[in-house]
Amino acid sequence: MLYQLNRRRTTVTGKKFYIETYGCQMNVHDSEKAAAVLLGMGYGQVAKPEEADLVLLNTCMVREKPEKKVYSRVGELKRGRRGEKKNDKKEQIIGVMGCVAQSEAQKIFRRAPEVKLVVGTHSIGKLPQLIAELEAGFERAIDVRQTKEPDFLEISPAEHQTPYVAYVTIIEGCDNFCSFCIVPFTRGRERSRPALRILQEVIGLRERGYQEVQLLGQNVNSYRGSFDGVDLSLHSGTEEPFVRLLELLAQRSGMKRIKYTTSHPRDFNARIVEVMDEYENLCPWVHLPAQSGSTRILRLMRRDYSRQEYLERIEAIKKAKRDISITGDMIVGYPGETEADFEETLSLVREVEYDGLYMFKYSPRPNTHAAKRKDSVPEQVKTERLLRLQQVQAEVQRRRYERYIGREVEVLVEGHSARGQGQMTGHTACNKVVNFAASESVVGKLVRVRITSTTQNSLLGELLEG
Ligand code: SF4
Repeated sequence: MLYQLNRRRTTVTGKKFYIETYGCQMNVHDSEKAAAVLLGMGYGQVAKPEEADLVLLNTCMVREKPEKKVYSRVGELKRGRRGEKKNDKKEQIIGVMGCVAQSEAQKIFRRAPEVKLVVGTHSIGKLPQLIAELEAGFERAIDVRQTKEPDFLEISPAEHQTPYVAYVTIIEGCDNFCSFCIVPFTRGRERSRPALRILQEVIGLRERGYQEVQLLGQNVNSYRGSFDGVDLSLHSGTEEPFVRLLELLAQRSGMKRIKYTTSHPRDFNARIVEVMDEYENLCPWVHLPAQSGSTRILRLMRRDYSRQEYLERIEAIKKAKRDISITGDMIVGYPGETEADFEETLSLVREVEYDGLYMFKYSPRPNTHAAKRKDSVPEQVKTERLLRLQQVQAEVQRRRYERYIGREVEVLVEGHSARGQGQMTGHTACNKVVNFAASESVVGKLVRVRITSTTQNSLLGELLEG
């Protein structure tokens, strides 16, 4: 997925930057942090790469496609500049940050000599020094060191992707080493932020008018931050840090909507569901990636749970007092996946009834354990399985969405819908997209909408109050 932070900001130095982001919310949030550092240096932000003195590509390696895209994008940027008149051409720095920067490091300079700057996943706070090196005449600048206490965890974005929903990192990195995943290599080991800093950040966001925060981490359930300085007297006494953090934010931040992602099925438990039931502002949505429906494949993936254990978590979620939406991720064609294993994935999807599912074909990622195994499922079989899975999910999702027809939902309105003139769009507390006709005056507000029909990935409705 490609996101662009495309607001214009005034510039103090006269210099401008442009950031293009690939990947998940964590990457979007890193781009927000990089933008904050650059704005702090006096740079202005622009919406087109050709207007920028510094172009940063924030990369993702979780799947193969975004990684390839980065190199082709560098080529496109270079070709785009060839078309400019000589007088209009200014010195432009192209930089790569994120997972590809961390993993490929110096190799990027060889593969794409136009790139002058490589910024590792822990080095966003080093942007000023790295840019200073280039300005001092060094041909290239790079920092891919990984530290235990990366300073970027405490960089507060000046602006967020939307003015109404803010991402807040609670834990960064991952210790799990699932066999297919490159994240522990590119993002490093888990580090949790202190609860007090998170609480202060969420209170600050509420005071700035934000109505929703999404707490981010590769595995939020293994949050282990310190609670030093936090008054826990109002709390139920739970010792589990993630549940404590949810409770703390629900009780003390005043934030209207609190969402979190991503959960790991091994660490997710019924206590989390109980706390979600206790507090209205903990939104009824859980993203719980199964990755496969076959216990045999889950073992090979080193996921540390069986199909049965996964289904027990799902049962706990379904027993909640509120109707909690469940979304997930699924990989098809993992090395050694048989037709019988794949059938188990299909049956899991039917049984869980996901409200949304990200579905991928397996592709080997460098350094991972799975990459040492033979990529044994032929590409054609992977494609065919992916299509079958998509069909099953489409049918499940149609039924899940149709249940909403006639219901009233609360929508946080985030802007104009791509559906056309006069159509607004936003999300429900359970993270569904809702489109409806309304004037611009509702943007940024929480409004009531009655659902009248559905599409494959959204709900359509009519505004009940403005
Ligand atoms: S839990 Fe597994 S899939 Fe998720 S980031 Fe960690 S290693 Fe990757």
